[in-house]
Amino acid sequence: MKACLDDTGEQNLREEDLVSWFIDPGVRWNAATGRNTNDTPLLINTMGSHANRPDARTSIPNLFLAGDYVRTDIDLATMESANESARAAVSAVLDAADSPEPAPAMFTLHEPPELQPLRQIDADRFRSGLPHMLA
Ligand SMILES: Cc1cc2nc3c(=O)[nH]c(=O)nc-3n(C[C@H](O)[C@H](O)[C@H](O)COP(=O)(O)OP(=O)(O)OC[C@H]3O[C@@H](n4cnc5c(N)ncnc54)[C@H](O)[C@@H]3O)c2cc1C
Repeated sequence: MKACLDDTGEQNLREEDLVSWFIDPGVRWNAATGRNTNDTPLLINTMGSHANRPDARTSIPNLFLAGDYVRTDIDLATMESANESARAAVSAVLDAADSPEPAPAMFTLHEPPELQPLRQIDADRFRSGLPHMLA
């Protein structure tokens, strides 16, 4: 971060600001290939997988799930989706505990309406077996 943020010559981060650091040991530099390897690769949702994702509340009374793989309103593994699943899990925990505390607010993903015509064209092209417009 320091190398990146200070590359203009302006000092944004100082060495003495560093408290500690940790890099996931699953991420390793492979000198032979000149690339990183990662034991826990990035999850990218596949088409139609939304229905297969688990809900935050499971059929096991004291098991709750939170994470980007949990089904939310957002059909993509993102920080927003992970956050939303955590809210759903907290809500389920409060409900299971008969807690009087208010449940966290839930949000739906904003889909810009101005992009809807392009989304429709994209869907039509996909159904017809045509490549993406920008491909
Ligand atoms: C390279 C990259 C770029 C991304 N860019 C974006 C982006 O621009 N915008 C966006 O919204 N999302 C982005 N994402 C996705 C986003 O980071 C994830 O969707 C989000 O962090 C998932 O949150 P999570 O809490 O489900 O899991 P994580 O953030 O992966 O948290 C899981 C935690 O559990 C810990 N853990 C795992 N196993 C154990 C264990 N046995 N015991 C204790 N702890 C354990 C892990 O160390 C980790 O800290 C990106 C992801 C990657 C990899």
